[in-house]
Amino acid sequence: MVKIKSFRGKIFLYFIVVFFLFTAAILTFQYQREKNYRAAQLENTLDNIAEITQRFTRQNNLIEENKLDRIGELKSIIPQPQTRITLIDKKGNVLYDSFVEEYHQMENHLDRPEIQKALRNQTGSNIRHSETTNQDYYYYAKKYPGYFVRTAVVYNVQIKNFLKAEQAFIFFIVSLFGVIGIILFLVTNRLSVSITKLKDFSIKAGRNERIERDTSFPENELGIIGSQIIRIYNNLKNTKDELSNEKEKLFNHLNALNEGIAFFSPQKEKTLSNSHFIQYINIISKRTIYSPANIFGIGEFQKLNQFLETHLSQKTPFHPEALPHLEYVISKNEKYYKIQSIVFLDRSFEVVITDITKLEKRRRMKQQLTSNIAHELKTPLASIKGYIETMLNNWPVPEEKQLNFLNKAFCQAERLTDLINDVSLLNNIEDAGELFPFKPVDIKKVIDDVEENFAHRLKEKHIQLLHNIQSGTVIQGNESLLFSVFQNLIENSINYGGKEITIEIKLYHEDEKYFFFSYSDNGEGIPAKHLPRIFERFYRVDHGRTRESGGTGLGLAIVKNAVQLHKGDISVRNKPRRGTEFLFSFSKK
Ligand code: ADP
Repeated sequence: MVKIKSFRGKIFLYFIVVFFLFTAAILTFQYQREKNYRAAQLENTLDNIAEITQRFTRQNNLIEENKLDRIGELKSIIPQPQTRITLIDKKGNVLYDSFVEEYHQMENHLDRPEIQKALRNQTGSNIRHSETTNQDYYYYAKKYPGYFVRTAVVYNVQIKNFLKAEQAFIFFIVSLFGVIGIILFLVTNRLSVSITKLKDFSIKAGRNERIERDTSFPENELGIIGSQIIRIYNNLKNTKDELSNEKEKLFNHLNALNEGIAFFSPQKEKTLSNSHFIQYINIISKRTIYSPANIFGIGEFQKLNQFLETHLSQKTPFHPEALPHLEYVISKNEKYYKIQSIVFLDRSFEVVITDITKLEKRRRMKQQLTSNIAHELKTPLASIKGYIETMLNNWPVPEEKQLNFLNKAFCQAERLTDLINDVSLLNNIEDAGELFPFKPVDIKKVIDDVEENFAHRLKEKHIQLLHNIQSGTVIQGNESLLFSVFQNLIENSINYGGKEITIEIKLYHEDEKYFFFSYSDNGEGIPAKHLPRIFERFYRVDHGRTRESGGTGLGLAIVKNAVQLHKGDISVRNKPRRGTEFLFSFSKK
């Protein structure tokens, strides 16, 4: 069977079936009426024949004289000569039958339905099949005093006759069926316009396409429903688009964050998370974790689990301004992670993991530094105090001794100033690099300035300074910091290199972004074991000697930080023969 898929086809089919049933019902009704009418006609004829037979029998005293065979004579009188006439007495015995010669031998007829009906109602009829003639008969019996007259004709009120008789009616009905069919076709067509549009709409909606508001919907209920659905759909689509835009932004933002962040439903199912989150929980956990929701099975997050267990099951509502909040630090493989969680009003919650290793290390370093500074300050202070105390305790002190003590105290005070200046410079470079204004700086000029500054001391120690830096070697940088870099390097060579040495500054390479410099001297050099730590604050090779030279142990730390602030890098190595070499770069812009 062909399956009708379209709505229009279906509606048309339903209508046509209903109309067909309706037509069939009318035809059946009409047929039944015709049948009844014909039966009534037939019954009327049979009644007349029964009456004639009765009258004939009575007038001619056929029963009394036992001449019932004469009834056969009636055949020539009545208009339906093929009518079967039977006379049956009250007990059901057949007295005469026009179709059966041996009617005396016929069985008792009292139980025949038409006779039974006639017994009760004077007349009775029945349609039955006759075995003798193998045809259907219409039997009609009428009760008279003393006997029944039964008349019968072959019953053939057939559909054939009916169709013949009612040709006009049938033709009318069939034409009507045709016309109504066409009308139904047109009506369903019209109805299906809205449906087809809705179908097209739903296909587009399924593909998530944008749908224009269609004004060509028919002006009926379906049309209105159609336009409304499209309007609602478009509103929803707009909202959905906006939401997904926002979500996209949020997602991009989350991914740009350094924190690992994840949002969970009250059932602890993940609703949103960024890539850092999964990365962090994998670092923290010993196992490989594929889903953010697995965080709840990791031992390291036990504290988080306990917190969530307490608050997610809490029945009393939270105060919007005092949402449950957890914060603790996990340390793993030299790294530190801050775990934070907030449970929201609807019991959904977020977990934020922040890598605080840098901050934590810096905090620890600062702590260390503070105690180092305190220690470094104590020494010159103690010296100054010592000189003053000696003078006070031994007063009056000879004049030349006084001068000597005051000079020494002054030197220590200078050292203190240097120290404080260096510490504050270092702090500034590290914490507030933006305080140093950047502008184009000519490196040659900086080196010349430093050389001039140290001219006396260089000459004193017979130190030669050579360099191949051309003027025009310009970088975007901070002049005073660049000055500090070369000043510290040259001062170290003067202080620790020894006499009659040569300092060489070379621009050994340059590319699009960087200048690469080498600074070397052929002095004492630094023992190899100290090289890895030489840039640390307060790190000195030889404490006694450095103090003597007035060094703070911060010079190279300042150099390194200043180089880094200029987006460069620095390393140190010993020269093959003698001396130390520093290799460093500065970004041009
Ligand atoms: P300071 O301010 O005490 O000079 P630095 O950080 O500048 O501290 O230097 C650290 C240590 O490195 C010094 O104590 C010194 O022993 C060694 N040093 C630095 N530069 C040189 C050099 N050119 N030759 C030999 N030793 C050096």
